[in-house]
Amino acid sequence: MKNLDIDRQYLRATLLELLKIPSPTGMTDVVVQMVCHKLEAMDIEYELTRRGAIRANLPGKVHSPDRGIAAHLDTLGAMVKNLKSNGRLEVVSVGTWPARSAEGARVTLFADHGKHYRGSLLPLKASGHVFGKQVDTQESTWQNLELRLDEPVENLADLERLGVHPGDMLAVDPQPEFLDNGFWVSRFLDDKAGVAALLAAAKAVTDAGCPLPMDCHLLFTISEETGAGASHILHGDVAELLAVDNGTSAPGQNTSEYGVTIAMQDSSGPFDWYLTRRLISLCENYGIEHKRDVFRFYRSDSAAAVEAGNDIRTGLICFALDASHGYERTHEKSVTAVAQLLALYMQSGLLFERDEHALGPLEDFPEDPSDWDDSEFCAIDSTGPSD
Ligand SMILES: [Zn+2]
Repeated sequence: MKNLDIDRQYLRATLLELLKIPSPTGMTDVVVQMVCHKLEAMDIEYELTRRGAIRANLPGKVHSPDRGIAAHLDTLGAMVKNLKSNGRLEVVSVGTWPARSAEGARVTLFADHGKHYRGSLLPLKASGHVFGKQVDTQESTWQNLELRLDEPVENLADLERLGVHPGDMLAVDPQPEFLDNGFWVSRFLDDKAGVAALLAAAKAVTDAGCPLPMDCHLLFTISEETGAGASHILHGDVAELLAVDNGTSAPGQNTSEYGVTIAMQDSSGPFDWYLTRRLISLCENYGIEHKRDVFRFYRSDSAAAVEAGNDIRTGLICFALDASHGYERTHEKSVTAVAQLLALYMQSGLLFERDEHALGPLEDFPEDPSDWDDSEFCAIDSTGPSD
C-alpha cells in the first residue's frame, strides 16, 4: 500500500469545472456527461443507469466481493411554484436548504425549448426604502421569497408570454472563489468537492498503476439531496460502501477543518465498526490529519443504500464544510486529505473473508469488535494484499 500524491492542480481544476455546471436534483445530465469524460480520460470503464447514475470500475485482483465509494453529483436547487400577478414568481426549494441563504442568490430559470432566463431570489419585502424596519423583521421562509426575473415582466400575462411555467427548474449560481491561502468558498461544495476528491483519488491510483486487492466501484449518484442516494446503483456483491460527503464545521461539532472527518454516526445510526476503524487506522498510520464526529441532522448516500435493504458495511468520510447548504466554505487541505485517504482505502484489502457471501456460518464471524485491531494491516510497508 502506498500513500500516493494527490494532483492538487487536477483536484482544483476538476472542482471548478464541476461547480460551473448547474446540477440541481432532477437536472444532472450535463454534469454526468462531464464526469463520464473525466473517467474516459483515465481509461476507467463505467456503466450508466437510465437516469444517469454512474458506476465506474477500478478492477482489482478479486472481482467479487467488491466495494463502492459514493459521491453525489446533484445539488440543491429550486423550482417555480406559481406565476404571480405582479410579474414575480413564487418558488419552492429542491432539497432542504434555508430560505435565508437563498435571499439575494442569482439564478438561472430553465424554461421549455432551451430558453434560459436570469434573475434573483429576493425577500417579498426587499427594499428598506419602502418597507423600513420590516425588511429585518420579516420571517425568512421560502413562502416569503420570490423570484425577480431580469426581463420586462409586470404581470401574469408578461410571464406567460415569456413561456414560464410552474415546475420550471432553477439553478443557483455557485459563485466560487478559490483563495491562494487554500480556502475554497462556493455554494454546492456539497458534494462537488467530494466528487472531485473521488476523481483525484482514482487518478492517483491509476497514474501510479497500483494493484488493487478487490474491485472498487466509483459510484456517482444523482438524487442524494432528495433522499434516494446510492440505493439504486449497487451490485449484489458490494460488501462495503463508503460515502464521501460534507462534514459540518459548527460549534459543538468535532469536524477537522484541514483534514478528513470520519463520521461515527448520522441520523441513520452508527456506521460499521470495522470499516470505521479501518479508516481511522489508515489515517493514523499514514499521517493523515483526521477527527471523528457524530452528526445529528444528516443522512448520506450510504443511509439510503442500507434502507433499501442492502446488508453491507457502510461508512462516511467528510471534507470540512462551513455553513453547509448555504454559502459554503472548505479548505484545499481538507479535500486533499479526503482524496489521500480514498486512495489508501482503495488499496486496502477486504475486512473479512466471510464478507464475500451474504450469509455464512458462525466460525469466522468476528468475536468482539472492541478487541479488533486493524493497525497491523494498515501499517506502512505492510505486506497486505496489494503488495
Ligand atoms: Zn451532500
